[in-house]
Amino acid sequence: MADSTDNSRRRFLKGGAAAVAAIPLAALVHQKQAFAKAKAEEGHARDYVHDAEEAVDHEAYQEGARCDNCAFWAGEDDEHEGWGGCFHPDFSDVLVKAGGWCDVWAG
Ligand code: SF4
Repeated sequence: MADSTDNSRRRFLKGGAAAVAAIPLAALVHQKQAFAKAKAEEGHARDYVHDAEEAVDHEAYQEGARCDNCAFWAGEDDEHEGWGGCFHPDFSDVLVKAGGWCDVWAG
């Protein structure tokens, strides 16, 4: 009878330990998904366009300005070539194109 109880306890503890070990992994996977950003749509905010050439007639446009030479550019995203993050609050939840532009471009 004691052996049976010990075996049950061991199985219970093993199962419990596996479940506890799985929690941080699940949390990491969820966290990674939470940080995955969608690509900005044209017009997302601040007159954003994917191609800075389309903004040459905009009153705020400065020659040569594009996202990847903007002070808000956060660098290219590892999983989306040609797209990157932007530190401006209006773009905090999306990726923008390296060659894109918006009216708060800052050199
Ligand atoms: Fe591009 Fe505008 Fe962000 Fe600068 S602030 S990186 S121009 S979206």
